[in-house]
Amino acid sequence: MQIQIGQATLELVEGDITQQDTEAIVNAANPSLLGGGGVDGAIHRAGGPAILEECRKLGGCATGDAKITTGGRLRARYVIHAVGPVYRREGPTKAAQLLASAYRRSLEVATEHGVKSIAFPSISTGAYGYPMEEAAPIALQTVINFLEHQQDGIQLVRFVLYGQRAYAIYVQALQRIMAQRTVAN
Ligand code: ADP
Repeated sequence: MQIQIGQATLELVEGDITQQDTEAIVNAANPSLLGGGGVDGAIHRAGGPAILEECRKLGGCATGDAKITTGGRLRARYVIHAVGPVYRREGPTKAAQLLASAYRRSLEVATEHGVKSIAFPSISTGAYGYPMEEAAPIALQTVINFLEHQQDGIQLVRFVLYGQRAYAIYVQALQRIMAQRTVAN
């Protein structure tokens, strides 16, 4: 599924984030930035040791923030390491704010580095336990708000959903948002 937001394209695909040809891919990292399972493990395995070497120098990353490194051997030039909330630790309200912040900060860091295309996984919805039905509208709305307000920066944001279920949840969330936008206009 694909929609236009201003000059930019927002795209949903089912796939593997490590295989994307966007200029940057986002990692669902943990605050240590020293590796983990899920997306994090897959990115470090595919990108090689150069990514971890740079991560070691960054001194970690706060929840809701994002930091950038090389993409190592990946097709993407950069990895943006974003730290989403642990759902049960923060509770729904604070978790929503921190999740939105992780997406927003990733887009800001990308823009600062002149990145035109970026791919996101579904941050916090694996080990960090964020229910995907709740996370999807927050993720999508945050990206849409950013793209609506930016000035000629990012041209492509791709959500790479892991498996059919994740893809279906994001499609439904995006359709809902689009339907509401139509009513509002
Ligand atoms: P977090 O700790 O932020 O929850 P995880 O990596 O555990 O991060 O999971 C985040 C989401 O990424 C989950 O929905 C998981 O299914 C998905 N995922 C796992 N591997 C990949 C991959 N290679 N590409 C894209 N998404 C992935």
